[in-house]
Amino acid sequence: MAKPLSLKQFVAEVKKGNISIVEHTEKILAEAEQSNQTYRYFNLIARDSALKQAKEIEAGIKTGRHKGKLLGVPISVKDCICVKGIESRAGSHILSGYTPLFSATAIEKAKAEGAITIGKTAQDEFGFGTFCNNVGIGFARPLNPRDRKRCCGGSSGGSAGFAALSKLTHTSIGQSTGGSIACPASFCGVVGLTPTYGLVSRYGLIDYANSLDKIGSLGKTVEDAALLLEVISGYDVNDSTSLSEEMDELGSVNPSNDLRVGIVKELFKGCDKPVQKECRKAIDKLEKEGATVEEISLPLNAKFGIAAYYLVSTAEASTNLAKFCGMRYGLHERLEGNFNEYFTKVRSKGFGEEAKRRILLGTFARMAGFRDAYYLKAMKVRTKLIKEFKQAFANIDVLLNPTMPIVAPTFREIEKLSPMQQYAMDLCTVPANLAGLPHASVPIGIHEKMPVGLMITADHLQERKMVQAALAVEGLR
Ligand code: GLN
Repeated sequence: MAKPLSLKQFVAEVKKGNISIVEHTEKILAEAEQSNQTYRYFNLIARDSALKQAKEIEAGIKTGRHKGKLLGVPISVKDCICVKGIESRAGSHILSGYTPLFSATAIEKAKAEGAITIGKTAQDEFGFGTFCNNVGIGFARPLNPRDRKRCCGGSSGGSAGFAALSKLTHTSIGQSTGGSIACPASFCGVVGLTPTYGLVSRYGLIDYANSLDKIGSLGKTVEDAALLLEVISGYDVNDSTSLSEEMDELGSVNPSNDLRVGIVKELFKGCDKPVQKECRKAIDKLEKEGATVEEISLPLNAKFGIAAYYLVSTAEASTNLAKFCGMRYGLHERLEGNFNEYFTKVRSKGFGEEAKRRILLGTFARMAGFRDAYYLKAMKVRTKLIKEFKQAFANIDVLLNPTMPIVAPTFREIEKLSPMQQYAMDLCTVPANLAGLPHASVPIGIHEKMPVGLMITADHLQERKMVQAALAVEGLR
């Protein structure tokens, strides 16, 4: 099977009239529908609206109206990102029936460049998970494209799984709070790019934790993922935390080996030996090609990252989920009893087990009497962790470590893990997310026939360096 055309090649062929967008959209919808019977990458496939968009764009090209960078490119979208007129549930039963009246800014930007939304991808409920097994009530867990007994990784599992499986040109919009783009990219063997916090507008994102959430991209190659990120980034008047920086030409950056690379000692140590070995091999090659490599120590991040992250993220999540009570969004029940009785009924039925666990944990962490000891302390620790990163970036361009400490585990193996053991798997991805740093996961090796990903972290707004390094790493394969 030939490799699919890159986004740029595809758009060039579309412009020359060599590819029919409608036919290509038909093909990828058929692929999504067929694979969904087994792999469950989509919570919803938007056949009618995708074909409608395809026809409009095709007609627009003929009249010279459409010229975009993503002309006719099919994109799948994580369920937590709102798409106008398409049920958007963030993988949760409590949002059953919620059909947004507007699209997220990231979607509008992609559409303005000619992209076609084909469906909403499977995820852990509201993003609460590392394996995409914490899906909401009534949802199916997506299965790893290389081995169906294994997970896709979370929480953007459907996006990564379909990006890996699809034989056609396609890219996906995902979201990360503590590693949800990098982790599934690593487990499924695709590229995941998470930008600096604020680079992509969060308007229209069903939040998990506002101070941590980032929208990013997943694709088969660094170039594809970088082009999508280029398109969706930039200031948005609807999101006061969005940054004014644009990432022009991010999809056209060239690889560079002329980089000062720091290997994060502690994060390496926390990983399985075979995973370490694969990553070392890639780094050795990178060094041979001209990179300057040195060991870097981030002791505070390694020791306190997980604890600080799970306190901050659950505190924010528990407030964000308060609005889901059967009054405005999604699930409704017969109105009976007093407010408390009604809310309790809806929330008991609508939230899955992990969502309930996090509501309890987060509410506790910010309760009067415990707030100073937990939430505020975690916030102070977070500042220290950011400082530690900033010191490291004074002398280096990018940091490298394995994305995940293991290859994609089987569902059986996951069942044996306690919640705490599951949280501990985020050791390598959580620090960069807490600090709002841009990071990439690039597949670099194989262990037990499963892909291993290398994580590349750059300083704030140094997306170009991240992409330069990611392209160099990709070129080693
Ligand atoms: N595994 C992490 C968590 O469960 C990160 C998930 C995410 O980035 N959405 O919080």
